[in-house]
Amino acid sequence: MVRKTRQSRRKTSWDNTNMTPTQQFIHDQHKIHYDQRHPSIEEAGEAGLINSHVPSCCPYCKSSSFTKFGLDSNGIQRYRCSSCGQRFKPTTGTIFDSRRIPISEWIEYCTNIFRYVSLNADSWNNNKNALSTSKYWLEKLFLTLQGSQDSIVLSDTVWLDETYYTVIMKDRQHHEDGTLLKGLSRNQICIGVATDKKHTICFIEGYGKPSQKSSYETFKDHIAEGSVLIHDKETTHRKLVQHLSLKSKTYSSKDLKGLTDSENPLEPVNRIHSLLKMFLNAHSGFNRDDLQGYLDLYAFVVNPPSDYLEKVEKLINLVFENPKSLRYREQFGEKT
Ligand SMILES: [Zn+2]
Repeated sequence: MVRKTRQSRRKTSWDNTNMTPTQQFIHDQHKIHYDQRHPSIEEAGEAGLINSHVPSCCPYCKSSSFTKFGLDSNGIQRYRCSSCGQRFKPTTGTIFDSRRIPISEWIEYCTNIFRYVSLNADSWNNNKNALSTSKYWLEKLFLTLQGSQDSIVLSDTVWLDETYYTVIMKDRQHHEDGTLLKGLSRNQICIGVATDKKHTICFIEGYGKPSQKSSYETFKDHIAEGSVLIHDKETTHRKLVQHLSLKSKTYSSKDLKGLTDSENPLEPVNRIHSLLKMFLNAHSGFNRDDLQGYLDLYAFVVNPPSDYLEKVEKLINLVFENPKSLRYREQFGEKT
């Protein structure tokens, strides 16, 4: 028999007394709503979800030799490693470890974030709180999405352009006389963006103007050989074009002058730049160390699948599959 765990509902002053019909009704309604919002792990079906993710190896020593070791009080499968003797569960070392993030609430949080990121620009500034409410959960989301763009390879026709994002005021670099460095200096973070209209990638390239080397390193694993590259920086992207045998179509700023958005051949990537900037500017106070996390989140939301529920499914699978979270030893809630 599996013992149910339930967060204790705060006692009402009417508990254990003879209630009037009015009190009884209020009491019962309160309890129904409370129970809906705080289902036990078993009732929410989380044990089934968790147990369906069988670990591929022991999270402590990476041995693939382990055996089942009974269920815990929530019905979650325990395992014992035959090599190091440690006990673990499918959630050990993941963000769902030790129930710091209940899966049902995580799903709700993530669907809200996805909806928020994909909102049109006008709504962004009115919805700032969606991201700032839980810094801790946002960090976990960034951790889960770390590397999630790594396997994306754009093909056919690829639109590529760099954009810049200003370093936060206190981190800005100054000349010796105290004046700010101007132009595309180290006070501008260069973000490389490319899209083939099916998938989009956004990576930090470095500070200041991109170089042949930085653009090559950023995009070399993300564009299929022989693709058509539409861009406006012939020199900067020369190494990339040569090494991937790309068919380069370059437009100079003179070519693009005076064109409307719809006439502009770089419009597919320009559009991503402006939406991305509005998203980032809605959180202008954020720590720039998290910038790649925001870019990963943005890319995750604009890339397929477009359905929010399928996105959450993909995310939950990433949590269980993503061995990166294991590096964070402090997240190991359970040491047996
Ligand atoms: Zn082990």
